[in-house]
Amino acid sequence: MAAKVYHILPQSKDFNYESGLQGKFEKFLKEFDFSSYIPENEIVPLKMHLGGRGAFRTIRPQFVRLVIESVKKIPAKPFVTDSVRAPGYEYLEIARDAGYTHLTLDAPVIMADGIFGRDSIKVYAGKTIGEIAIASSIHDAQSMIVLTHVKGHIQATLGGAIKNVSMGGVSASPRGSDWHEGRGKMHFLMGDLMQWNQEKCILCFNCMKICPTQCITFPDNKYTVDKEKCWRCGRCARVCSTEALTVPVSHEMFMKALAEGANAVLSTFQPHRIVYISFLLEMQPECDCMPFADTPVAQDQGILISDDIVAIDTAPHLIY
Ligand code: SF4
Ligand code: SF4
Repeated sequence: MAAKVYHILPQSKDFNYESGLQGKFEKFLKEFDFSSYIPENEIVPLKMHLGGRGAFRTIRPQFVRLVIESVKKIPAKPFVTDSVRAPGYEYLEIARDAGYTHLTLDAPVIMADGIFGRDSIKVYAGKTIGEIAIASSIHDAQSMIVLTHVKGHIQATLGGAIKNVSMGGVSASPRGSDWHEGRGKMHFLMGDLMQWNQEKCILCFNCMKICPTQCITFPDNKYTVDKEKCWRCGRCARVCSTEALTVPVSHEMFMKALAEGANAVLSTFQPHRIVYISFLLEMQPECDCMPFADTPVAQDQGILISDDIVAIDTAPHLIY
């Protein structure tokens, strides 16, 4: 049987709260049977991307709060989480500035792999990436709600639920290991450092500015990376306008790695324990980890809800 994907349209028929997207989402959540996915009194991660500083098109806190209220009615104990993308302490400050706090959401906001981004458990993902380190607060949970702001992505093209679960469910620098068993492995399957072409480099230093770990320097005008500190996130190559930097992975290899990463995260849950909610709102071309929010590339399409990660990521082609 084909998986169900519910679609809440963004348009409002009249001037009432109930006709607007927020009102319709609230009504949907009241009628949706969360308790068939989440047992009573369970501690439940709401996995979402909390954004970068300046990336203000993430999921609005009002929508997150509505989901939290619904989970509490089960009753269960929700918390909002993501793995460390900017350094953890800084990432929590970014989350606060975006309106994601315990006070505003009425649920804790925590780093899924700890404030230092190292708390994780290794799981076999597949033949492309082997073992990968799942953030412990996701690994140890029995059920989960995945909130995804749909947008573009550096390498995945579509930043949907699969990308959210895969890259966001994995630590960047796992304890007792390094990027070889972390998120960076997906970007660096065919080499362990960025490839730098000196002839193409115009010394704009945009790569240095975007680097989340400040591990790039230019001694004698040569791109140099502190190998120990580099997360292998790929952002420096993304912002290089001359293609002087390239990530050592083919698109096909990256997509296989992404799928295996998602499968590894999902393998830590029993079937029928995850609900996906994707927000097709303010769909900008870049990932929310970039330090800006660009103009959306499509009009708002509303909200999708499903218990099938592939169905929800492939549903948008039915909408446009
Ligand atoms: S962003 Fe590219 S062109 Fe600019 S300094 Fe870095 S490598 Fe050179
Ligand atoms: S891949 Fe580039 S941007 Fe990312 S941590 Fe390494 S040097 Fe910095």
